[in-house]
Amino acid sequence: MLSELTAQIKSYLPEEDLKPVEKAFIYARNAHGGQRRFSGEPYFSHCFEVAKILTELKLDVPTVAAALLHDVLEDTQTKKDDLEAEFGKEITSMVEGVTKIGSYNFSDQETAQAENWRKMLLAITKDIRVILVKLADRIHNMRTASALPEEKRKKMATESLNLYAPFAQRLGIYRWKNELEDMAFGILDPRGCEDLRGQWEKRQESSVKSLEKWKKAINEKLAGSGIRYRISARPKSLYGIHRKMARQKKGFSEIQDLIGLRLITDSVENCYALLGLLNDGFTPLEGSFTDYINLPKMNMYQSLHLSLRDDAGTIAEIQIRTEEMHRRSEYGIAAHWRYKESVGITGAGIAAAGEIEDKLDWLKKVLEWQQELKDPKEFLESLKVECEFEQVFVYTPKGRVIKLPKDSTPVDFAYAVHSEIGDRCYGAKIGKKLVPLDYRLRSGEMCQILTRKSARPTKDWLEFVITPRARSKIRKSLRESGGES
Ligand code: MN
Repeated sequence: MLSELTAQIKSYLPEEDLKPVEKAFIYARNAHGGQRRFSGEPYFSHCFEVAKILTELKLDVPTVAAALLHDVLEDTQTKKDDLEAEFGKEITSMVEGVTKIGSYNFSDQETAQAENWRKMLLAITKDIRVILVKLADRIHNMRTASALPEEKRKKMATESLNLYAPFAQRLGIYRWKNELEDMAFGILDPRGCEDLRGQWEKRQESSVKSLEKWKKAINEKLAGSGIRYRISARPKSLYGIHRKMARQKKGFSEIQDLIGLRLITDSVENCYALLGLLNDGFTPLEGSFTDYINLPKMNMYQSLHLSLRDDAGTIAEIQIRTEEMHRRSEYGIAAHWRYKESVGITGAGIAAAGEIEDKLDWLKKVLEWQQELKDPKEFLESLKVECEFEQVFVYTPKGRVIKLPKDSTPVDFAYAVHSEIGDRCYGAKIGKKLVPLDYRLRSGEMCQILTRKSARPTKDWLEFVITPRARSKIRKSLRESGGES
């Protein structure tokens, strides 16, 4: 068992001293002794699997060691001081962090849930690796959830869907996000999930056929280009389809775009070259192009997105990206972590985490709001919106790009630019045209906010704004001007 783990780490960290991992393995196995899981398996098997999941993301030695030890403070006689004497501060504080998050009991009450988010965020600000261990812990618990009593299982699934999957998404670890969502879907709605799976499988044959057709057509168009690329089918998650059906209020047969293809090439230049060739060779769907290379998502995701239609009218969703972007979309923040590690910041664990966080806009913003928002419910509300992922990019008259969640209005835009502009806003123009303040902005639009000194937010703005920032600023302004909010 141990050799399996160390061999794995050696494959990506050949130089590293693996003693902490070896020591943690023996220590945790002894500490958990004869404890068993619900399934009857030795408890330590769980700790081992969690560590293994983290090596799949190629995490560093302290993280893997902390993963092996992650339950010793909570479930065994081991005290923090013992751990620190054996493993030092870095690993111990990670174990402590994971234990703290776990001690926070999720309940259906919104307030408690908001508190959970706060805890997670606080843990992140200390050391982002704590969250990675906690997420891996959750993945393994979900994978083995069938052994749990039903009530426990459902509670865990709800929590995974509401708390952990969005967190994985926000950290850009899509493979974890998808796995958590699909597992939770299967637990919370077993029949709906099975049903959808059945329908999906029935369609399998024809989708494979059209997939192959698309691949062939694309390869033909790109053949003479001399650009090196590989093309692969993009797996769609069951829960993703389910959500799409719910959002568009459509049945499975009406959901069309199940063909997802991904082109991976070696440079940014080639991404755009491939894009040009595809645009020439096929009919792109109007409005389907999004350039996440120039304008990365808040979790650093980058790719070019577009949808193409062939002569028969079938539609394919295409993503074009480099190998590096691809790795980042799979491993998210962990990919960055590794990069940092490999360029030699090893040992400065927490400082490196801080650097990564600097890159994560959303985290900074969330922490900022967390301080602004006194009411935990308001805080939760803000996170829910922030976790909705689709974004629009809107330009200021000076050409600055403002990223906003989909369906944002000029008021959201105004507050995103500056709170003063939001507070003094009375109208908005898209290009030269006046639009109402509840207008829904679209990517690529240039928005000009009309302001005057005497203007003030009104209560009805709260009905249409969607960003937490605008919402809290409007409430604040209403409170200050004596209006009720
Ligand atoms: Mn655990």
